[in-house]
Amino acid sequence: MLWAAFLCDICVKFPVYYPDKGRELVSKRRILIVEDEQDIADLVALHLGDLCDETVIAADGHEGLRLACSENWAAIILDLRLPGPDGLEICRAVRRERPYQPILMLTSKSSELDRVLGLETGADDYLTKPFSVLELVARVRALFRRIENIQEAPSANDSSIIDCGGLHIDSNSREVLLDGQQVELTAREFDLLNHFVRHPGRVFRRADLLDSVWGYGHEGYEHTVNSHINRLRAKIEGDPSHPEMIVTVWGVGYKFAA
Ligand code: CA
Repeated sequence: MLWAAFLCDICVKFPVYYPDKGRELVSKRRILIVEDEQDIADLVALHLGDLCDETVIAADGHEGLRLACSENWAAIILDLRLPGPDGLEICRAVRRERPYQPILMLTSKSSELDRVLGLETGADDYLTKPFSVLELVARVRALFRRIENIQEAPSANDSSIIDCGGLHIDSNSREVLLDGQQVELTAREFDLLNHFVRHPGRVFRRADLLDSVWGYGHEGYEHTVNSHINRLRAKIEGDPSHPEMIVTVWGVGYKFAA
């Protein structure tokens, strides 16, 4: 049965996650769930309820687009296929307003992943239905952890700014300039670039990058790294087909050429 994975997980009690530091920084943590299948929306809301103060469900793309763009959310869970504007459209609209909004996309089948990843929607993460609720909760926790790490970063100091090869990276403001021009990066793209420039010359396997940048066990999702690297290269490399900054180390992974 399609939702067997869901039903299985309902029976498993998951520890409540209340990061105190994060809660001081966000007055009220709210999660928006844009999902037209009510059973799934309710189940997701039930389980994410432990991670936040409030969950809000939008049952179609119009309502989802309106809420996603008009209010502040700790995270947005966004179904790809929706009546009205679809998840890709909503994701793009949100990114224009709030580049660092954490977004987790839900897709109906793995073949749709190519659309999600290839169209540079800027979703921070994705899950393919049917997914495990525990996996969803773990992914949302990871999104929160990442945001909290950013917020807990030390205030302005020398190491927060790195200049190299025409790149200017400010990890406090999360601003990236290339030859003086602002580069628009998604939250994950920024984290990836920031990780590379802070370890110049070091070769990372895809699994290392998943652990360091995505922050949780993500076995079998190495293509996620490839996709983000390609998007990052398209934004910072003069010739993305012959990258000079984030270079491929064949048979191993990637490194930032100092
Ligand atoms: Ca749907």
